[in-house]
Amino acid sequence: MFVIFETNGDEASGFLSNYFDIKAIALLILGVLYIFFSAKWLWRNQLNAQLEKAQKGFMRFMPVVVMSAIVFGCLYGIHWKFKEENIPFTIVSSFSEYKQTKELLKDQLAKPKGQSLHVKSNLSSQATYVIVIGESTTRRNLQLYGYDRETNPLLSEIKEELIIFDSVISPHVHTITAMDKIMTLQSFERPKVDPNVSIVQLANQAGYKTFWLSNQRAVGVFESIPTIIGSAADERYFLNGNAYNDVAYDEILLPKYEEILADTTAHKMIFVHLMGTHVGYDKRYPKDYNHFKGQRKNKDEKASEYINQYDNAVRYNDWILKQLIEALRKKSGDRYLLYLSDHGDDVFEEQNGIGHNEYNATRPMFEVPFILWSLNDQIHLFSDALNIENRRYSLEDFVHSFADLAALKFDGYDSTKSLFNVEFVPKKRIIKDTIDYDNW
Ligand SMILES: [Zn+2]
Repeated sequence: MFVIFETNGDEASGFLSNYFDIKAIALLILGVLYIFFSAKWLWRNQLNAQLEKAQKGFMRFMPVVVMSAIVFGCLYGIHWKFKEENIPFTIVSSFSEYKQTKELLKDQLAKPKGQSLHVKSNLSSQATYVIVIGESTTRRNLQLYGYDRETNPLLSEIKEELIIFDSVISPHVHTITAMDKIMTLQSFERPKVDPNVSIVQLANQAGYKTFWLSNQRAVGVFESIPTIIGSAADERYFLNGNAYNDVAYDEILLPKYEEILADTTAHKMIFVHLMGTHVGYDKRYPKDYNHFKGQRKNKDEKASEYINQYDNAVRYNDWILKQLIEALRKKSGDRYLLYLSDHGDDVFEEQNGIGHNEYNATRPMFEVPFILWSLNDQIHLFSDALNIENRRYSLEDFVHSFADLAALKFDGYDSTKSLFNVEFVPKKRIIKDTIDYDNW
């Protein structure tokens, strides 16, 4: 329901169109008709007669009272036992929960600084750090992770400069719920942190000038959670006014990105929020990126078409990342670029369909790329020595890794939860509130 309530009604409509088909709608109509005619029949044949009799004497009214009590008792019992399955109830209750969460987020995360949080930092003389947040990109379809298609021709050329973490998952498979945990102090251990703080605010407090550059639409009925988090940045650029269903190439971010890089502030932290490989795959890349064609092994024509489109989008994403890296390379001072995705999509991999849905989640939806580009020999030596590629990690703890990358410490920082710390300790990776991902 959070996904459906979220600002961009487009994400919701994309989400619904993925999971509702003619059969589901026909069944829904049949169900409603059945209830309607049953009620009408009952009313005409039974209740009316009962009521007429009841009016003749109190005792005769009793059966109706008893019947009603039983009916309400049963309804209450059903509600108590199957609350989670009760769609109308869930809509009402989760909407109020959603509104509360939203208010809290706006109140706490949209401000430049986190409430009552102490941040210490140890910044190098000049630094430009870039955090790129992808969209719906599973690592399963990345050549860098062993996929059998050339979806990363450009990043493969600079593979030596990349640290590729191969065991990172997202805590959720929807943008809103995932970003809530990835970008803030929130985690399964601490689901309702109060006051909550985002990594944008941490960077502000550490002394960086922060930038939020986004190709995802900022406006809607409500503001979306990524928008709230981004609005804490010193400078914010939402360059896409279009809906998710429209064409939205990430290259529109590049000129502004160059401008931001030219900013002469000594310490810069740049967040780039991509449209990535969001559903509507064929609308994520220009025509000349129509590279993959033909039928995939063991897949029918329709599935192959979706896979081809998704792979084209991944390949275009590879070009975008390479542009971001090459522009950053030209700068001086300490610099790195971290790329991660909010969650993945399953494109006819373990499900017979496309997209992401936590209720019917599959592994590709959780498995995300997590790649650091850096020219700093120390980080590379550190990662080689620790065999960092095999570290199991869930992005619910990302805020601690971010703190190490940004050379800052905050109240509650935990070095055992940072991928970039010698004290890192792998822990149970939770999904869906209680499930251990590694025994799922
Ligand atoms: Zn997403």
